[in-house]
Amino acid sequence: MTKNKSSKKIYFLIGLFLLCLEGKAQVIYGTKNYTEYHVGRLPIIISVPHGGLVAPVGIPDRTCNSPTIDLDSRTIELAKQIDTALFKLTGCHPHLIICNLRRTKVDCNRNIADGACGNIEAESAWTDFHDFIDTAQVIAQKQYTGKVLYIDLHGHGKRPYRLELGYGLSGAAYNSTDSELNTASNIAASSIKSLVNTNVSGSTHAQLLRGPNALGTLFANAGFPAVPSQQSPNTGGFPYFNGGYNTFNYTSIAAGNTVNGLQIECDSTVRFGYANRKKFADATALILEKYFSIHQNFNLLTNCGLTTGINEDFTLNGSSINIFPNPVTDLLQLSEKNINGNFEIQIINVLGEVVFKTLNQNKLDVSRLSSGLYFVKLIDEKQRFWTVKMLKQ
Ligand SMILES: [Zn+2]
Repeated sequence: MTKNKSSKKIYFLIGLFLLCLEGKAQVIYGTKNYTEYHVGRLPIIISVPHGGLVAPVGIPDRTCNSPTIDLDSRTIELAKQIDTALFKLTGCHPHLIICNLRRTKVDCNRNIADGACGNIEAESAWTDFHDFIDTAQVIAQKQYTGKVLYIDLHGHGKRPYRLELGYGLSGAAYNSTDSELNTASNIAASSIKSLVNTNVSGSTHAQLLRGPNALGTLFANAGFPAVPSQQSPNTGGFPYFNGGYNTFNYTSIAAGNTVNGLQIECDSTVRFGYANRKKFADATALILEKYFSIHQNFNLLTNCGLTTGINEDFTLNGSSINIFPNPVTDLLQLSEKNINGNFEIQIINVLGEVVFKTLNQNKLDVSRLSSGLYFVKLIDEKQRFWTVKMLKQ
């Protein structure tokens, strides 16, 4: 794609990420905090281009090329609640990229000319936002090649109340038969083209769009009507968003990109009110876990990158911790490499509470812990620490 970006900046951001590996997401801010990137560790990237409320007077309202300036209300809050739900479920965060500027000032789901209308500050926010997505894709692809899912999160105010999943295909395409959807030309135009070739569920393109284990079907089964899905295999003649600039540039529609992705347009019933968002966010985390499991044979609960402990003291001297067996039932064995002196071991649950603590022990009786996900943390005499994920059965 052609846009103003600096590959040097991306590599700087990746370097920063490598220095920042921790259970907690690191947040990197763009120019004037107009954009932010919560660095994640899951093979899931969520971007939110239209939820921002910041409207500096120094940036004129966009007027070029008849711009759309509608706010996608509460989509930032929704994305953050999905982040929280995924962390509670898996112990890891998704990558999250947010534009805090109001859409009257910049549109990060358009090309830079239409999105920033030539204003230098708006261009800088636009560039930061897209550099962050590039960075997240490089990091996630490096960790989970070919398994990454990108979601561009939006809100729509139309009827009927339903999620609109945009895979790049026009609304009219869903009036086709399944065999027509499975033609090479329709697959080539699809934002999940890569998944058509790599899925382990044996699904065709049409099945991935509206079969029994399509994303839309999983949402509809959970009580969130969605199009396309098994329940709504076509748009029903209603207006429908098929995906915008980000969907076309950051998924496998784009030449050479193997990231699967889509635009999710959320109706107001899942965006307004904390409890409604939480219900949808919690369901989304479970649905994504199921989706990765079915189509990628990838377990988000046990597979988000931590198999051995990571040295957190940033000297990168080759020190690490390891645990076994993992998953564990009763006795956990701990081994350390290049870590000397006294140390404390903590076991921390996904709420961040220390549920077990001991000194200088390599064999830990964890039989009394309830089953679930934990972090084992070793802290040495210099207060340096190493963390490793543990699944208790
Ligand atoms: Zn939008």
